[in-house]
Amino acid sequence: MCVTCGCASDGTQFFALTPRPVESGRRVLAVERSLLAENDRQASVNRQAFDARRITAFNLLSSPGSGKTTLLVNSVTALSERCPVVVIEGDQQTDRDAQRIRATGVPAVQINTGKGCHLDAQMVNRALAELALVDDGVVFIENVGNLVCPAEFDLGEHAKVVILSVTEGDDKPLKYENMFHAADVVVLNKVDLLPYVAFDVALCRQYIARINPRAEILLVSATRGDGIAEWLRWIEQRRNANIATPREVAAPAQRT
Ligand code: MG
Ligand code: ZN
Repeated sequence: MCVTCGCASDGTQFFALTPRPVESGRRVLAVERSLLAENDRQASVNRQAFDARRITAFNLLSSPGSGKTTLLVNSVTALSERCPVVVIEGDQQTDRDAQRIRATGVPAVQINTGKGCHLDAQMVNRALAELALVDDGVVFIENVGNLVCPAEFDLGEHAKVVILSVTEGDDKPLKYENMFHAADVVVLNKVDLLPYVAFDVALCRQYIARINPRAEILLVSATRGDGIAEWLRWIEQRRNANIATPREVAAPAQRT
């Protein structure tokens, strides 16, 4: 993850304390573990805050340009008629995506990560303080566009949504196995472009099933509207299941 690619979220502090990876692989691994353990602790705090209000949180992950924001823009309006919805937008720069969400009438907070290429649980915690959360609602967290390190960072969400545009190629599940392994659902987006690109849906399904048999797969065109009803149904199902889940206050997950 980011310790090795140099994009640690708390960049300045981190580089001051850590030797270069080539100097000590074991030391880097230890720092990586403690960074992730601290993230897991904060993610658990976030999850408890959600659970105390029966809020269901979704972490949206993909490469840049897969259509995450368009999918949200074209679904939060319908969803917000059924339940309270808020959005946290993660990007390195600009608040363009948050503005697009706010234009629908749904509250949104933008996190700019600067050089950081993922959201972490602490950032989400700070963003949550800016939002008026409502019981039984839904929180969407749009992660920074990146199929690598965001897979490692639990944000306290109840489900990970991985979006893959058909323009990216059907072999991406094989190339970014960690990301697809973590997915609760994979949204194959931009299916309206299938006639124009070399993307074998059946083959992609096989790859995903091989890596992660439990992942559901939805075929969607966020711009044309295909599959949006199924996507909203999936969200409602997850939300209903989450609301019905009896709560115990869970201890933070331990990394070994
Ligand atoms: Mg976006
Ligand atoms: Zn990163």
